Amino acid sequence: MRHQSLHFFFFLALFMFLIMPKTSYCWGFWGHKRINRIAVFTLPSEMLGFYKKHIEYITNHAVDPDKRRYAVKEEGARHFIDIDHYGKYPFDSLPELWKNAKTKYTEDTLQAYGINPWYIETMLYRLTSAFKEGNAINILRYSADLGHYVADAHVPLHTAENYNGQLTNQYGIHGLWESRIPELSGEQYDYFVGKARYIERPINEAWGFIKVSHAEVDSVLLMEEVLNSETPEDKKYSIEQKGNSSAKVYSTEYAKEYNDRLNNMAERKMRAAILAVGSFWYTAWVNAGQPDLDKIELKMSAEELKAAQKEEEKTLKKENLNFKEKGHIE
Ligand SMILES: [Zn+2]
Repeated sequence: MRHQSLHFFFFLALFMFLIMPKTSYCWGFWGHKRINRIAVFTLPSEMLGFYKKHIEYITNHAVDPDKRRYAVKEEGARHFIDIDHYGKYPFDSLPELWKNAKTKYTEDTLQAYGINPWYIETMLYRLTSAFKEGNAINILRYSADLGHYVADAHVPLHTAENYNGQLTNQYGIHGLWESRIPELSGEQYDYFVGKARYIERPINEAWGFIKVSHAEVDSVLLMEEVLNSETPEDKKYSIEQKGNSSAKVYSTEYAKEYNDRLNNMAERKMRAAILAVGSFWYTAWVNAGQPDLDKIELKMSAEELKAAQKEEEKTLKKENLNFKEKGHIE
């Protein structure tokens, strides 16, 4: 009996491990790419030329931080903050500034429960430096990364310990909200979000995203709980064919009904994320002294860039593999 239950847990762990990479991508690959891409069009004319020229890079590399999660141990904490860990009034308990938060709670604790808003600030700083140096590849890299983390701050479930409904028997809700819904209806979203604006206090702005997102966690969970109780199992899921394999997914009807009950929350959040990403890029550029981007050349030819990307992907794959071989299960 004991032996059997050990077997069961082994297979459960293996199963979780196998499905984790699919369910833990924030915003899904589709959403992140779309957010970075559309954010380009919020920029002022002085920035637009450069960003448009490299829009494929900005788009495709929007998901690098998620790819890195399996290769770099420190990466995971940058995508979320489980704010409810910090008591009943977490925003009063947890200092907004990294230095003060670290003194109060220790860095280990902060890393364990996520560092997203502080990492947004770090990336803004790096992007600002890249602008000052006129370093084209770093401008692109950090813009793509910063866009990712700002977008993550707009996902309600990235601010809660119950991030995938695992504490309330709603396992999978993470992917339903941030991947399934945008993938089903994202093409029809209204992407006219206005112009990027200058952010006076970036760290307060980042905390603002988290506060808004966290206030939405209750409805995200509650609406699904109610819908689930009203929906027979065979209507909740469907089997979808992808290439040679088939996967059990939330049915289109279920996802759409959930989205209606949330009053298109995913679209609203995606629009807010796009404007925020553009505004952070713009702020970095202004803080760097508004350098002339037309003079900044990417000193790599298209072939070199392609080769560098291929190399990067290969390394990621290799590291990913090593990581698996070491038996890490997160
Ligand atoms: Zn992420």
